[in-house]
Amino acid sequence: MEFDSMTFPLSVDVSGSQYWIGDEGPYKLGMAATEFLAGDGDAELREELEGFLRSFGGVLDPFVADGKASEGELRSLQERAIRCTVGCGYHAVPGKIYLVERYTFTSLRDFLLVELGKAILHGNAPRQCRLCGRWYFHEKGDRTIYCDRVAPGETARTCREVGARAVFEKKIQDEDAWKIYKRAYKKYYARLMKGTMTQEEFKSWADDAAAERDKALRQLQRENISEALMAEIFRELRERLNRK
Ligand SMILES: [Zn+2]
Repeated sequence: MEFDSMTFPLSVDVSGSQYWIGDEGPYKLGMAATEFLAGDGDAELREELEGFLRSFGGVLDPFVADGKASEGELRSLQERAIRCTVGCGYHAVPGKIYLVERYTFTSLRDFLLVELGKAILHGNAPRQCRLCGRWYFHEKGDRTIYCDRVAPGETARTCREVGARAVFEKKIQDEDAWKIYKRAYKKYYARLMKGTMTQEEFKSWADDAAAERDKALRQLQRENISEALMAEIFRELRERLNRK
């Protein structure tokens, strides 16, 4: 989207979750706000969009707001109200005519805030990639938390590919910690059954074991964890769970 070459008043036809700017489109709700956030346009406007997303995007993970606003915030929101006119119209594309809401915006700010607001209501939103931190377009129902740009330090693999791999590896590491715990649990539970361990002894072991397991899982959360450190965490967990 060429923000610099947009001329105002801007006519935008919205139908459901898609829209046209003049004859161009269809775009999906949220695409313009995302592209603006990802670009290097007016910093003040980008900040305002981020604030808007924080305030009203609470329904969309990961932007959680509790919905309460102070008197001051309410007043400042009133002062910064978004202005546009809206009517009904028909938008024709080859072979089809859509009934549309026709918005007329006098500034880029008004357009982007309305576009973002409608996107949030629909379930779309700009998101920040958990790997590279850049903004990408999140479409309703989309579950990914990574963008599909080439990841930092990579030549071809995207954040999505690198991120998915990292999540997968993390899951395997967690499973290994759980395996060590379950194996030890079986061993001590058998002792309890055979009567070589009392109920109190078993209970005390089980409490310690759960704490050790959770500690190991927390240690495995660390980013860029080395193979050596991982092996050390598993060795220690195994030792601590089998001490008695
Ligand atoms: Zn990314």
